[in-house]
Amino acid sequence: MDAYRLDVRRYSLPFRTPLRTAHGLCAERAGWLLRLTDDRGGEGFGEVAPLEWFGTESLAECEDLLARLGDAPSAESLAAVPAHAGCVRSGLAMALAGLAGGPAGGPEALPVAALLPAGRAALEVVEARLELGFRVFKWKVGVGAVADEWGMLDDLLGRLPAGARLRLDANGAWDRRMAERWLERCADRPIEHVEQPVAAQARSAQDLLMGLAGDYPTPVALDESLVHQADVDRWLQAGWPGVYVLKLSLLSDVRGTLDALRRAEARVVFSSALETGVGAQAALRHAFAWTGAVRALGFGLYPLFSDSRFDGPFAAPFLRRGDLERIDPRTLWNALN
Ligand code: MG
Repeated sequence: MDAYRLDVRRYSLPFRTPLRTAHGLCAERAGWLLRLTDDRGGEGFGEVAPLEWFGTESLAECEDLLARLGDAPSAESLAAVPAHAGCVRSGLAMALAGLAGGPAGGPEALPVAALLPAGRAALEVVEARLELGFRVFKWKVGVGAVADEWGMLDDLLGRLPAGARLRLDANGAWDRRMAERWLERCADRPIEHVEQPVAAQARSAQDLLMGLAGDYPTPVALDESLVHQADVDRWLQAGWPGVYVLKLSLLSDVRGTLDALRRAEARVVFSSALETGVGAQAALRHAFAWTGAVRALGFGLYPLFSDSRFDGPFAAPFLRRGDLERIDPRTLWNALN
């Protein structure tokens, strides 16, 4: 029976700039880095990064589960962490994968989407990002009045060169009627996808989203609808025809989920859950190992933390595998000492 040594360090890291979330402004990120050591002296690192406002298990629950594992958990006790504690399970899986060793193979580089600020500020930022070489952009909508946003949308599209693509993210802001108006508007415009047009908690959200995905040519993407493993399973079972935005740090069985998505030939976007470099590296290795078409990564957010030692790969139009492998989880671990 395998026995491990488990060390846990809690972090509480201020953001460089407070982030706007569904819960208002968020000034810092809390979570844990894990180190798992085996009896042959191998070590692997993981990160437990719950997003309670997104619907994951709470910090208190993570803390309790980690304490119960103790400092010498068996393989059985690691496997017995309940499936709904997706962030703890994901963090342990990262550490186990680190013990198994070996960075992923895959392409030399993957494209990254640049995040644009909501509102008119996007117009200025898009120019700067284009100059850096970004060609895929994401813009938050459903923030201002619809007529204003439609005007800005066309201004924004007018600034994009041929081949560039724009994603819209409504973060569940619209009702059915507004979502329909937007998707109609998008139909003859080069929009890559519209993310979470209606709230995951909306009444009959699944029927509503399936209907929107079936009625309009612009792909619809799920983000807030995918919090737990069981959510991904349910949408796969429903035959979701749109895009899956995956925050792998939240999913209890990342490998199993990716295998199921692959079998379904699903379209996926690998996306950040505001992790440190430890969780980001683990998630991005899966992106590099993905065998289907890889859409531009939703990881254009670093530098994110006031203390840049904890950042994932800095936002650039392309993320090179070499840059990803230059992140050394041990350095972040030591920085928490
Ligand atoms: Mg989103």
